[in-house]
Amino acid sequence: MSGETTRINLLDLDEPGLREFFASIGEKPFRAQQILRWVYHHQVSDFEQMTDLGLALRQKLSLLAEIRPPEVVSEKISSDGTVKWLMGLPGGNAVETVFIPEPGRGTLCVSSQVGCALNCSFCSTGAQGFNRNLTTGEIIGQVWQAAKALGHERNGERAITNVVMMGMGEPLLNFDAVAPALSLMRDDLGFGLAARRVTVSTAGLVPGIRQLRETVDVALAVSLHAPVDDLREELVPLNRKYPIAELMQACQDYVDGKHKRSITFEYTLMDGINDSPEHARQLVKLLRRVPSKLNLIPFNPFPGTAYRCSTPERIDRFQDIVRKGGLIATVRKTRGQDIDAACGQLAGKFQDRTRRSERIRLRQVEETH
Ligand code: SF4
Repeated sequence: MSGETTRINLLDLDEPGLREFFASIGEKPFRAQQILRWVYHHQVSDFEQMTDLGLALRQKLSLLAEIRPPEVVSEKISSDGTVKWLMGLPGGNAVETVFIPEPGRGTLCVSSQVGCALNCSFCSTGAQGFNRNLTTGEIIGQVWQAAKALGHERNGERAITNVVMMGMGEPLLNFDAVAPALSLMRDDLGFGLAARRVTVSTAGLVPGIRQLRETVDVALAVSLHAPVDDLREELVPLNRKYPIAELMQACQDYVDGKHKRSITFEYTLMDGINDSPEHARQLVKLLRRVPSKLNLIPFNPFPGTAYRCSTPERIDRFQDIVRKGGLIATVRKTRGQDIDAACGQLAGKFQDRTRRSERIRLRQVEETH
């Protein structure tokens, strides 16, 4: 990995950014489109192979720029076909990216931060603290590396049909880097994914939800995990800053936008914590007015956690009550558990810098409020 390079990483730039870059080096802005096609349609990272760029431009680009995705450190393949990559970053950090194949679709779960400062009590990533935000190139670079490893086309179809920003980190606390990466996922010159096939998952950062609504058309997933404030504060401490009523209003506004939007509420079921019939009824009351789907996730234990997964009987009962209450609810099948790739199990590799980062995070939250 080039590490201390001063060359600009073109993966950090979406189409408007690339047009500006080419203008700044005295080149025609349409070069942006050529580069995007090479990088995202043909998976080419070497300027020498970009044969419709003249020799002089290729040489100039080699001096000034590079295409630098995170480095694939390891790849693990689960018995169910799930793939987990450890992606290395400068400074000895690494994040995890997971591919989940299903009939007719392939979902890539992408990380947005090294660790996470939000400290949700049931999450392995949160338990390990926070190091730093990823750059746009490190986010879109995960998709790029996965697409390359999987083969961009599989039986004439793309291997990656959906991207979810549900890996390590809270994407809306890294908005400035995440937004251009989302544009590149959506852009026809990038990965060309439809709005409903790109999902941003948030723990409930209300100002970020509002900013996302104005910026890029994607699907939203909200990690709810509890139907009432006191319990949600225990599970998702961010709830102290943005309580459920405020969050639900932001969600309602998100789906009321000018585009037809979809929203999914994520609810991790933990035995004896949030999985009672009463919780299910409270959830029905809370969600029935918001057009949405409910994703029930059996808790995936990780070393050191005190929580346990709900029993199959309690999960069935919970699902039955919310369905009878009128919600569209599915139970997520656990995937990749044998390689620690299941929801909430991603750990990566990094030094916790939470004390310093906690101050940064709190400042970020204050500033966006
Ligand atoms: S659940 Fe999401 S927001 Fe909460 S600590 Fe884990 S990664 Fe962060």
